[in-house]
Amino acid sequence: MSTHSIVNEGFLRPEPPLTPRTKEFWTSGHDGVLRIAQCDDCGQWMHPPQPVCRSCQSRSISSTAVAGTGTVFSYTVNRYQWSPTIEPPYVIAEVALDDADVVLMTALIDCEIHAVSIGMPVDVCFAISGDTFIPLFRPVTP
Ligand SMILES: [Zn+2]
Repeated sequence: MSTHSIVNEGFLRPEPPLTPRTKEFWTSGHDGVLRIAQCDDCGQWMHPPQPVCRSCQSRSISSTAVAGTGTVFSYTVNRYQWSPTIEPPYVIAEVALDDADVVLMTALIDCEIHAVSIGMPVDVCFAISGDTFIPLFRPVTP
């Protein structure tokens, strides 16, 4: 289990709503650790978190610490100002985690738009918004 930094981007991202199902995911970064929902009975990873395992129908689901490293599975460059606080352009990416069979929809930061590529190694960090710690990813620097 590795711990990752909290970043200050100089602006606030919209705070995701906390529900009983999503609270663990959105607050996991309080100690710098990314956690993903996992079935206690068969090990199936799931994101977004679900109350029932799609593989074995177990209702015993835990929030499991993961390394927080992954690779860019897919991405797009957003050029429209959807949020008053987030200046475009920015990269929206799907990140495949190294040690959990899930893909997270997220944002890439600290990365030139033209430098992003499929398969690029990335590492999680967290941006605080209200009571949440939003997982973001940035390139792994060698
Ligand atoms: Zn299961």
